[in-house]
Amino acid sequence: MILILLGAPGAGKGTQAQRLQDKHGIVQLSTGDMLRAAVKAGTEIGLKAKAVMERGELVSDDIMTGIISDRLDQPDCEKGAILDGFPRTEAQAEALDKMLAEKNLSLNVVIEMKTDDEVLVERITGRYTCANCGAGYHDTFLKPAKEGVCDKCGGTEFSRRSDDKAETVKSRLEAYHKQTAPLLPYYREKGILKQVDGMAEIDEVTRQIEGVISSI
Ligand code: ADP
Ligand code: ADP
Ligand code: ZN
Repeated sequence: MILILLGAPGAGKGTQAQRLQDKHGIVQLSTGDMLRAAVKAGTEIGLKAKAVMERGELVSDDIMTGIISDRLDQPDCEKGAILDGFPRTEAQAEALDKMLAEKNLSLNVVIEMKTDDEVLVERITGRYTCANCGAGYHDTFLKPAKEGVCDKCGGTEFSRRSDDKAETVKSRLEAYHKQTAPLLPYYREKGILKQVDGMAEIDEVTRQIEGVISSI
């Protein structure tokens, strides 16, 4: 199964993708995580992406399409993949259609996580992750059971993204509305767009997504 989680920055894509991965064994492909790993490792792609990401703009379609195509060829994607953060432009969506056809795969569903922009700044500025296993948390909305200790791996080191600050959120939201939101009609016309209420609490969003998946 190939599914896309589509939503604004902070809508909850990563949080829900992690849950789907744990429950269904379909791998989460987060292009943001891949780019951050490339920046950290200082690869050629990382060097190109770093400044763009810091500005809250989008990395080039060619780079992103290449990353996803290579990733889908890895054996762990055999059962399928959850695309988290890709596609983000119409050019990426068209390239995805083409590459899936070439790989004899098909896109099962696109799940839109609908949110109001007002909640996103608080979600993004309160976001942090376990430095060891990548589990995502929030200062207010999703705290570990024991303060300072990761629920999943017991790790005690956490990190925050350098682009998760209020100033950058503005340009990221602009990029979302200008470049990514046009994908909604694109997928609606194909008849594969479903919606969930991204404003609901985290467990409720999970229930709605599970409902969508069991209906396809
Ligand atoms: P995205 O991947 O779409 O950018 P995340 O899944 O990282 O979003 O969520 C952003 C932040 O908001 C995280 O800290 C997460 O714990 C929190 N969060 C996710 N979903 C919800 C929700 N439905 N209600 C409140 N907070 C949420
Ligand atoms: P968020 O979870 O807040 O939506 P991501 O982690 O998905 O953010 O992405 C972080 C940054 O990485 C984006 O602001 C953008 O610069 C870059 N990026 C991630 N995915 C893509 C993509 N598909 N196309 C272009 N740029 C991307
Ligand atoms: Zn952890």
